Amino acid sequence: MSVSENLQQVQQDVAALAQRFHRAPESVRLLAVSKTKPVADLQAAYEAGQRLFGENYVQEAVEKHQQLSHLDDIEWHFIGPLQSNKSRQIAETMAWVHTIDREKIARRLSEQRPADLPPLNVLIQINISDEDSKSGISLEQLPEMVALVSSLPNLRLRGLMAIPAPQSDYASQVAVYEPLFEAYKALQAQQTDIDTLSIGMSNDLAAAIASGSTMVRVGTAIFGARDYSA
Ligand SMILES: *Cc1c(COP(=O)(O)O)cnc(C)c1O
Repeated sequence: MSVSENLQQVQQDVAALAQRFHRAPESVRLLAVSKTKPVADLQAAYEAGQRLFGENYVQEAVEKHQQLSHLDDIEWHFIGPLQSNKSRQIAETMAWVHTIDREKIARRLSEQRPADLPPLNVLIQINISDEDSKSGISLEQLPEMVALVSSLPNLRLRGLMAIPAPQSDYASQVAVYEPLFEAYKALQAQQTDIDTLSIGMSNDLAAAIASGSTMVRVGTAIFGARDYSA
């Protein structure tokens, strides 16, 4: 199957799941996760109508941003772990960062955001289930991080993101997402601009969309399996 056929299939799947959970199809945006894939694949997805692309590695994200700069309506999302010595490159190129979980990174991104660009859209990453992962803050730490991010002039807080540890079945996936969905709704009630809950990957789309996802992050189902040996 081609990238454009895969993309169409995923769009249909997402729309059908939205309907199943009584949500408007356009309330769930599709982020095409293109890490390790050549720019020709991104271009194929673009030609098929895709505009949101997600990258995980700073060097690769910056290179693709440069190579596809003529497609200036692409919305670039950085979804990988970010080290402070690389924050400038991200502040200068991306429209969104999903992985805010440290004060230092948030402060640097705001300081380094160029004045001629709109504020950087950011999501706070929550560690909801994966105790082995060093990424993400706990829900207990969320109020403090919200206050900090909201105080930074060149960041615009849009919501929350999570990468749960894989669960085998739908019910467990929904159970893991439940406290996150509650925290997201509370944040939305408290603050304007909050419109994004970034959850859902190829293997848990249904549970994520049932749990309020407004942005699913799909790689393999669009671009095929990744070959890390290449
Ligand atoms: C790689 C990645 C995805 C996409 O995963 P697939 O299984 O290829 O759909 C989504 N989110 C994050 C944070 C990722 O790193």
